[in-house]
Order: sequence, then C-alpha cells, then structure tokens
Amino acid sequence: MPETDTDYEIVIIGAGPAGMTAGIYAARARMKVLLLEKAAPGGQVIITDWVENYPGFPEGISGYDLAEKMLTQAKTLGLEIESEEVSSMTLTPKVKTLQLGERTITTKSLIIASGASPRKLNVGEEKFMGKGVSFCATCDAPFFKEKTVVAVGGGDTAIQEAIYLTKFVNKVYLVHRRDELRATKILQERAFKNKKIEFVWDSVVTGMDGFFGVENVHVKNVKTQESRTIKADGCFVWIGITPNTGFLDKSIELDQWGFIVADQYMATSVPGVFAAGDVRNTPLRQIATAVGDAAIASVSAEHFIENIG
Ligand SMILES: Cc1cc2nc3c(=O)[nH]c(=O)nc-3n(C[C@H](O)[C@H](O)[C@H](O)COP(=O)(O)OP(=O)(O)OC[C@H]3O[C@@H](n4cnc5c(N)ncnc54)[C@H](O)[C@@H]3O)c2cc1C
Repeated sequence: MPETDTDYEIVIIGAGPAGMTAGIYAARARMKVLLLEKAAPGGQVIITDWVENYPGFPEGISGYDLAEKMLTQAKTLGLEIESEEVSSMTLTPKVKTLQLGERTITTKSLIIASGASPRKLNVGEEKFMGKGVSFCATCDAPFFKEKTVVAVGGGDTAIQEAIYLTKFVNKVYLVHRRDELRATKILQERAFKNKKIEFVWDSVVTGMDGFFGVENVHVKNVKTQESRTIKADGCFVWIGITPNTGFLDKSIELDQWGFIVADQYMATSVPGVFAAGDVRNTPLRQIATAVGDAAIASVSAEHFIENIG
C-alpha cells in the first residue's frame, strides 16, 4: 500500500460526548471517518444520574438520555461506529496504524477522545468491588435502599452523586479531606440542606472491612490524626479521575498528571493526532468543554488532511 493510502481519513477513539461530537462534525464534512468505542457509547455521561448544566435542556436531562440523543444524532448523520478497543498504535506524520484485537487499521488523522476513569482510593477497596464499593451512584444506588453509605470527595461529582444517593439510602457520611467543599455553590447549598448527609471533614478513608461485603469504613482525621470507624454497607468514591492513555504511542506528549498536551487547535505533539475532552490537559472537564474541544479537533483534522493532500 502506498504510504498515504489509508483505510480512513479520520479515526476517533472513544464515544463519549467528545468522540460523538467529533464524529458528528466529521460525518457532516463527508470525511471517511470511523468512531471506535470499547464499551457502551456515552462514556462517563451514562453513569451520570442527572445533567443540569448542559445548555438546551431547561429542566435538565438524565445522562443516559443525553448520551442516547448524541448517539442517535451521530448515527442519523451516517457516522460509522464500531465496538472495538484500541490496544496500541504506531504513528508517522502521514499514516497512523491502530491495533484493534487481531486487526489493524490505518488512518491519515486521529482524534483521541478516550476520556478518563474514576481515581481509586488504593486502600484495599479492590476486593470489595461489586460488594459495597462503587464509583457510580446511578448504577448502584438502588442496591443500598434504606442503608447507610460512605461517600468520598468534595467536588461537583461527589456532591451531586451524594445528593442522588439520598433518594435511596437512609444516611450518607460524606468524607472530605478538607474543611470546605470544592463543588459549585448551588450544589453545596443543596447538600448542606439535606438532612440525610452528615459531613466528615478533614478526613480520608484509610481502609474498609467486612465479611461478605463492606461493613466498616475506617477514616482518619488529617488534622488531629484521630481514627474512627463508620458502620456502613457501602462506599462510593468520587475523588477525581485518571486519563485513559495506556494504549497511546509514547511519542504523544503527556503532562505531569498523564493528560495529553494539546494546543488551542487540539493538536498534540504528533502531526495529525488531535485530542479532545477529559483526556487532554484542560482546566475544566465537563460535557460542554468536551464537545467544544471535539468540534475544534474535528475541523483541525479536516484541515490537516487538506494540507497533506
Ligand atoms: C458521576 C459523574 C457525573 C458527572 N456529571 C456531570 C454533569 O452534571 N455535567 C457535566 O458537564 N459533566 C459531568 N461529568 C463529567 C463528564 O461526564 C465528562 O467531562 C465527559 O463525559 C467527558 O467526555 P469525554 O468524551 O472526553 O470522555 P468520556 O465520557 O470519559 O468518554 C470516553 C470514552 O472513550 C472510551 N475509550 C477509552 N479508551 C478506549 C480505547 N482504548 N478504545 C476504545 N474506546 C476507548 C471509553 O469507554 C469512553 O466511552 C460527570 C462525570 C461523572 C463520572
């Protein structure tokens, strides 16, 4: 095959809001484009109970419904989507080769929209996965009906999801390592008013135990060094995210936290490779910023292809 004769003009990795938006733009531009997704399309949005800060939905919309609408829009515009995981890649300025299981595909340009995954506590919670430890209230809250749970974190996601948990559980102990929340004020107001939430300030989770599942969550106050045990049936963790970059070629520059470094055109250190959404070095990781990045990345990829001829 000649060096520039590739299977696709644009391949997009990840069908979260960024990937689907990039796909919508590329499909409308009549590019030869493929979107690859290793799990269910929607990314982190499908584990979000309710979204009320994405414009166009004055009453808010469930994460699941928003993801469905994005997917329907992309498919209606003729976007080709495949259920495949990209395991590795080889990049040259003109041809990008992606490994998908046993198969390889080539493309002129690549948009990486592989997003991020919840950060772990690393206090031995692995053995309680599916037995009390969860990163997704939307998925697991109904299993904790009228029970007591610990929630960990102090940002928007932690507060929003803790409030959602209170629709099911009797009590949420919200463990946060500082003495104030980072979450948006409107969410803080709702959390402080909610009688089912008790705040455990200046504290971190140090471990958990239980016979069949979580029974006790151990926390330590970082100011006084005092330890205490909270009797709880579950522990929901929202302490940030880590980027999904394990499959990337080493030539793509990452920042000190492992996020892809991209400029205002979403261009990475490799010509023809663009990044969008939560996986890149951005000051805000939200649906609105992911779709904005993706629109730019898609148009930048088109321009790149025009320029290489
Ligand atoms: C619980 C929760 C609540 C939230 N609430 C809100 C909110 O109310 N408002 C808001 O604006 N934002 C919210 N967010 C943040 C928002 O969901 C993210 O900013 C947004 O989803 C980022 O989109 P993305 O497309 O960049 O990445 P993601 O949504 O992470 O999607 C990335 C996709 O890439 C796929 N992928 C990864 N690696 C590969 C691979 N190697 N091969 C193929 N596919 C791959 C993943 O499976 C995933 O589907 C919330 C997040 C969480 C977790």
